[in-house]
Amino acid sequence: MRNDTLANKPVIINAAITGMVPTKEDTPHVPITIDEIAADVEAVAEAGAAIVHLHPRDEKGRPTCDPEIYRRLISAVRTRCPEIIICASCSGRIESDIDARGVALTFEGDLKPDLASLTCGSMNFPHQASVNAPQTIVELARRMKDRGIKPEVEVFEPGMVNYARYLIRKNLLDEPIYVNILLGNLGTSPATAASLSHMLNLLPEGAVWSGAGIGRYQLTVNALALAMGGHVRVGLEDNPYYDWGKRTPATNRMLVERVVRIAGELGRPSATPQQAREIIGLPTRRGTE
Ligand code: ZN
Repeated sequence: MRNDTLANKPVIINAAITGMVPTKEDTPHVPITIDEIAADVEAVAEAGAAIVHLHPRDEKGRPTCDPEIYRRLISAVRTRCPEIIICASCSGRIESDIDARGVALTFEGDLKPDLASLTCGSMNFPHQASVNAPQTIVELARRMKDRGIKPEVEVFEPGMVNYARYLIRKNLLDEPIYVNILLGNLGTSPATAASLSHMLNLLPEGAVWSGAGIGRYQLTVNALALAMGGHVRVGLEDNPYYDWGKRTPATNRMLVERVVRIAGELGRPSATPQQAREIIGLPTRRGTE
């Protein structure tokens, strides 16, 4: 991309604010309860995020697929921020049953998420495997397609990009795909410009892509993505610290604000939720026009 086309190109900020792993011991700022998560959604929306990537936690702070908790979470977020784009996680990190993982895909009306995460392969995290069998990926993609919920395609290494292309060929993913490239996890692709470039070269034409870095690599990959014309995913799900040298705890708002500042220096405004819907190809939600 030429530099003169980078200026003024809106950047879609996807805030992954909770995840399944961080606890209050890891960082006091990770939102756990429904009220805390909804308050953080409001904070990151004010700071410039267009999408929030949500994981429900139970009353003890553990990740859960309880449909009631998930419904209450989405409802609280819709009430507080009616315009923000909601991405519901379908992670298999603690749960392998497809019905449990895809429970948010069954929600109706306002509780139906706009996006849902679809990890395109299995991998190792530092202390745990994340297993996404081909049948699981295909079935989750099919359910998302049936319900008109666009996948947030998650890829951690080049083979997962290849698998996303396979899903397009099988008519299970509609183009343009919205894909998050997550780099810097110990068991998958490193957070380097070379691995990002390689994966970008493998993406289908017209893909809307976003760069995310795990842990200490979050800032690096966000900055690379901003400079290369991509979008970003940022937040405490992937990284608890503002400054890894000093181990300064971050808040979700601080992490989003930093991305907004860097993007601003490059001439890139944050996309509003409505602009993000147009870029990704999501319908306008009723009541928010
Ligand atoms: Zn997640």
